[in-house]
Amino acid sequence: MPESLPPDLVALRDRIHAFVDGDLRPLEAGLNPDVPVPAEVRQIVRERSKELGLFGMTQPRSVGGSEAGPLAMVVARETLAAGNSNLTRYVFGPGPGMLARAEGDLRTRYLEPVLRGEAQSAFAFTEPSGPGAPDRPTWAKRDGDAFVVTGRKAFVTGGATADFYQVLVNVEEDASGPGGTAMLLIDRGTPGVGIERAFESMEGGGHVELGFDGARVPQANMLGKVGEGMPRAMGNINEERVEVAASACGMALWTTDYVTRHITQGHRAGGRLSDREGVRLRYSDLRIETYAARAMLYRTARLLDSGDDAVNEAAATKVFCTEVAGRVVDGAVQLVGGQALIVGHPLERLYRRVRSIRLTGGASDILRLNVARGIIEFNAGRL
Ligand SMILES: Cc1cc2nc3c(=O)[nH]c(=O)nc-3n(C[C@H](O)[C@H](O)[C@H](O)COP(=O)(O)OP(=O)(O)OC[C@H]3O[C@@H](n4cnc5c(N)ncnc54)[C@H](O)[C@@H]3O)c2cc1C
Repeated sequence: MPESLPPDLVALRDRIHAFVDGDLRPLEAGLNPDVPVPAEVRQIVRERSKELGLFGMTQPRSVGGSEAGPLAMVVARETLAAGNSNLTRYVFGPGPGMLARAEGDLRTRYLEPVLRGEAQSAFAFTEPSGPGAPDRPTWAKRDGDAFVVTGRKAFVTGGATADFYQVLVNVEEDASGPGGTAMLLIDRGTPGVGIERAFESMEGGGHVELGFDGARVPQANMLGKVGEGMPRAMGNINEERVEVAASACGMALWTTDYVTRHITQGHRAGGRLSDREGVRLRYSDLRIETYAARAMLYRTARLLDSGDDAVNEAAATKVFCTEVAGRVVDGAVQLVGGQALIVGHPLERLYRRVRSIRLTGGASDILRLNVARGIIEFNAGRL
């Protein structure tokens, strides 16, 4: 439970609260939310975050990071999200992600520049569907010391500015080796790799659709072996899902506090909205659901922290917390009324952000199917 944290995590939470109130809010007050955050402001956030020991939480010890565990990351992500600041995205240093186990040349050329903030990567996993989509997922054929890659990826966040892509492909079986999934590192600008379309999603993210038209990629650019692509893509998925759930709970916390302030102020009809029983019923639901989501979040974070393979619990927690956050923000819009829909209102922004997290990192219904399979086919987990 969030109440029974060890003293170091209580101190972490207090430090982040003070950081949001003392540093981020004053910085944000002077910014136009409709233009990109200036580089000098991002730099100030990063420097302060380093001083407070936050920046390195997502980074390995080999580069000076602190490699925070799942429970610490949940505390940090939830507290930052509860601050509802546009600047929190610059708090953490770039993590290794799937590159964590890169070795030799791949470590020097890809992982280390990413960790130093000198290179950016993007993750290309999702395949397109619908009219015009290829009839098979992105595939690769061996050709001498290279793979020849063909196909498309539908939704690559940060793909327009990334220096390289981490691409999941299906390698065809042939006389020189087996088939299976593989994770390839493909430089932007490689002949045969093109940005087919650039687009934005409603929460403000920038993405591209990538095309691969017989792109030659050295076999040395494969992370691990053929057959390891999907396991590597999913390597850290439990922690990632629980961190998304933590951000969702933080959004719900900010929202319930906002609604409390709103309904306890005077209303034009006389008195306060909180004096009406019907409003209290709706309001209580926001509080009850947020409480339940946080209980689940912290229980799962502790399981992961103890080294438990809480795959079912992590999927369930991501589904529940993101859906609760969606209902809480939606309910808040209803209680606050028309002003919450004005473009630029904090609830209007949050409404758009909270919608995307039910799809990213695994769509809710796909995760529900995973949970059912975990129980019915594998008899795993505690649900
Ligand atoms: C903001 C944002 C950022 C993203 N960034 C990236 C990125 O960087 N890299 C990347 O590779 N992808 C990225 N994605 C894509 C994301 O991973 C996918 O949107 C998500 O996995 C769902 O896949 P899909 O969109 O193809 O939907 P589909 O797989 O077509 O599913 C759509 C819906 O169909 C239903 N459905 C599908 N299959 C089943 C089934 N078997 N049983 C029951 N119901 C089913 C579900 O309701 C599901 O929500 C991003 C998406 C968003 C919104």
